[in-house]
Amino acid sequence: MKKHFLFTSVPAFGHVNPTLALVTELLDRGHRVTYAVGTDAIEPVRATGAEVIELPTKIPEVGGRGQHFTPERMRTMAEFFVDDVRKCLPVLLAHFSDAPPDAVCSDGMTTYGRMLAEKLGIPAIALVPNFAGNEKFDLRTAVMAEHAQAVGFPPPEALHQLESELSELGAEFGVEAPSFIGGAPAALNLVFLPEEFQLEHETFDERFRFIGPLLGDRANEPYSPADPQRPLLFISLGTAFNERPEFYRLCIEAFADGPWQVAMSVGSRIDLADIGEIPPTFDVRRSFPQPAVLRHAEAFVSHAGMNSTMESLHAGVPLIAVPQMPEQSANAARAEELGLGTALDSETVTAAELREAVDRVAVDPSVRTNLARLRDVVRSSGGAPAGADAIEAFVG
Ligand code: UDP
Repeated sequence: MKKHFLFTSVPAFGHVNPTLALVTELLDRGHRVTYAVGTDAIEPVRATGAEVIELPTKIPEVGGRGQHFTPERMRTMAEFFVDDVRKCLPVLLAHFSDAPPDAVCSDGMTTYGRMLAEKLGIPAIALVPNFAGNEKFDLRTAVMAEHAQAVGFPPPEALHQLESELSELGAEFGVEAPSFIGGAPAALNLVFLPEEFQLEHETFDERFRFIGPLLGDRANEPYSPADPQRPLLFISLGTAFNERPEFYRLCIEAFADGPWQVAMSVGSRIDLADIGEIPPTFDVRRSFPQPAVLRHAEAFVSHAGMNSTMESLHAGVPLIAVPQMPEQSANAARAEELGLGTALDSETVTAAELREAVDRVAVDPSVRTNLARLRDVVRSSGGAPAGADAIEAFVG
């Protein structure tokens, strides 16, 4: 039977991108999909052909950089999460109270998705573009317990304060606000990584479907390297924590004298003048069609956002990780543990160290062997068809 699904996600490409192929798959199967999202990520959503609801939400600039979530940064994010519910939930209630969809598929950061489902009495499905958590494993708690100081996760008190503010807000709307830390998972969780990559994957039960990355046809977007003779190195710090002109200058210093040709994505925030003179072997852009570039690349210097990590595995490209925040450090550590590349400290790394790591990892036969195996695992995780099957079976 044809159904109506409401998707919600935060307006950030790392969260929206992996859901798009699922939306397309559901539309292809004849279902109706409405996607509620903020302006910053609305274009790729519109391109799927889903109906779109523009939400009054925008991720705040947290200010500063580096691994540490200072109390000010934490406060900014906490205010955002609370404010987001206040602004977005009423919009969605106004839209759907009289004609509810059959289910809400929502990102963990859009807590109002699950609150809406509860309010309307319809099923909630969680979309998980990062390490999943369950009653036994939660990334924040696990990482905090292991090396709280080293990675600078927000202190537990700050998270607990956010939790209590959200639950007060839930009470105002007459629902239970979902927990940010170690709360009960949804009855169905679609996780966009292969099970093997998930930390402590043996603790996850059938509520979790590890369907792998959903690239759709992004890998087929047009791209060809400028110089077919030179090996291609792709450099990107993603779309969120990428305001690092001094890191891009360091990359230029490291790779200016060949043999690499370098495609370097610098994002939308920096002033291009701040990265200095660009050598002829460099192609610097604000954005590349990343999965298409990775098809040609021999190495990837990446912040190790989960999507970038998965796209690298999908293409079988060695990772040289330079994480910019704690969650990315956890992704990078997992990739290193599985022998898929190496992780460096982006605050202290020198041009010589970066160059050495890229040259070494790109030709390391054991990394190639591990990547070839993981590439098969990633490509056989089921993808969008498996996600759509799980949703259809769940909603009935
Ligand atoms: N991306 C892209 N072109 C670029 C840089 C990034 O298409 O030049 C895409 C990339 O393919 C991925 C997403 O943006 O799907 C980044 O997500 P990720 O989780 O890696 O990092 P975030 O941006 O959330 O930090």
